[in-house]
Amino acid sequence: MPPPPLDVKNLSVHYHLQDEPALSAIDYRAEAGKLTAIIGPNGAGKSTFLKAVMGLIPSTSEKIEAFGKPVATQKDKIAYMPQRSSVDWDFPVSALDVATMGLYGKIGLLRPVRKKHKDEARGYLDQVGMADYADRQIGQLSGGQQQRVFLARTLAQNPSLYFMDEPLAGVDIATEKIIISILEQLKKDGKTILVVHHDLQSVGSFFDNALLLNKVKISEGPVKKVLTPSNLSIAYKSPVIANVG
Ligand code: ADP
Ligand code: MG
Repeated sequence: MPPPPLDVKNLSVHYHLQDEPALSAIDYRAEAGKLTAIIGPNGAGKSTFLKAVMGLIPSTSEKIEAFGKPVATQKDKIAYMPQRSSVDWDFPVSALDVATMGLYGKIGLLRPVRKKHKDEARGYLDQVGMADYADRQIGQLSGGQQQRVFLARTLAQNPSLYFMDEPLAGVDIATEKIIISILEQLKKDGKTILVVHHDLQSVGSFFDNALLLNKVKISEGPVKKVLTPSNLSIAYKSPVIANVG
């Protein structure tokens, strides 16, 4: 058996000056080639989980490995798409600049960006339906368009493992369709994709597996097994019904 795309053991995060840990003792193994939703109420620690796995915030753990090696040494195989609300949209860059950033790992940070790189980045903008907006400043795009540009940057990285934080939050229907079809294509290509997802009603139609968090891991596995009324009432501390497809 090849090592799993992501293998996390005993991961805890305690933010500075907070009374309670944001996450405690999370064990999680991602299943290769699956589309997995990370779900749980607001403040459950979903974004914290992805940031800690990426090494963007301090955490304690026994293991955070991707493909059998520490995540820190596997960054060329992993892409992280942050939550849209956490991005500075006044930053003066064009949609094409953002997509091109996804190629930096390949180009090399201090090497010049050439026309062939811009052309390649333009191809990724085209995949997300944003080629016509290549020169538009990112702050002047709609929320859904911004999300698509960030997806183009993530695709340009061409990783084996994707972490996406709420790519479908607050987007229009056209954007949702484009993002979902790209996620499905990535899965067909054998990629492993973890997506923080806010909408319990659509988990069953879009995802294979789920990881249900609320400061601790409540459940993981196939969507139907995870989204039971009992697991959901533990996570959300009140009765909720999900559509498990
Ligand atoms: P989710 O993404 O599930 O909504 P988060 O991971 O953003 O939740 O946050 C989990 C908890 O950690 C929340 O209580 C939040 O207020 C807290 N938190 C998040 N970021 C920070 C931070 N930088 N400093 C202190 N507390 C934080
Ligand atoms: Mg979040």
